[in-house]
Amino acid sequence: MAFAAGAGPGSMAAPARRRCSATMGMLAAGMLAALGALQQNPAASLGGNGVDRRSFLRRGLQDLVRGLAGAVEQASLEAGRRLTGGGSYLRPPGALPEPAFLLACTRCRKCLEACGPGAIRLLGPEAGAAMGTPYIDPLGQPCTLCLECTRVCPEGALEALADPRRARMGTAVLEAARCWAHRGLVCDLCYARCPFPEEAIRMEGGVPSIRPEACTGCGQCVYVCPESPPAIRIVPAGAPGEA
Ligand code: SF4
Ligand code: SF4
Repeated sequence: MAFAAGAGPGSMAAPARRRCSATMGMLAAGMLAALGALQQNPAASLGGNGVDRRSFLRRGLQDLVRGLAGAVEQASLEAGRRLTGGGSYLRPPGALPEPAFLLACTRCRKCLEACGPGAIRLLGPEAGAAMGTPYIDPLGQPCTLCLECTRVCPEGALEALADPRRARMGTAVLEAARCWAHRGLVCDLCYARCPFPEEAIRMEGGVPSIRPEACTGCGQCVYVCPESPPAIRIVPAGAPGEA
């Protein structure tokens, strides 16, 4: 295989090499699982009965398919991040996973126009292929989960949600060292503002505790946090570090 000058495999930047290694690692995991099954049950490959052989093959194939699916998903997320200058954006509720969202969204602005609270903004040219797509900056204006944007999107880039609890825009992450309550002050603003208190966030012993499994990523807690910059941030869905 020929490579253009400076474009050979040896020239791959370290971060790209690490990402590639991670993807290959997931793929290898599926294959290793199949080999592991072979080691644990050598009779299956060395003339064991037909049922054992069939279950061995089925288990090995299932592990391999799981490994491949994980590798493909990881690779497509990485491709989406590279296309958009490495950025991860907080999308409106109901957004398809990032690579599919980028393909489906026609930049028609209908969601922006439908967003009464003014939470939706459009990405600029610095976002590369994501330019013109909607995002939310919770410090400027968080999402109220009215779901109006999901009703007007003509392309299905924002899928209709019957219940705002099902929105998974991202996950709130609390930095305890900077949280007023964790530092001994009386503050429960994030808890009081959360649309789903006791579900997505609780006060335990006078300090807030986030329940990632119920967090919608609306950003209301970020908006009201009195610390500057806020002690809570939203990690967008699918971004590295999301719970
Ligand atoms: S759910 Fe409502 S507030 Fe949130 S982004 Fe959509 S239109 Fe705006
Ligand atoms: S309404 Fe849908 S297609 Fe139009 S800009 Fe918003 S997300 Fe994209």
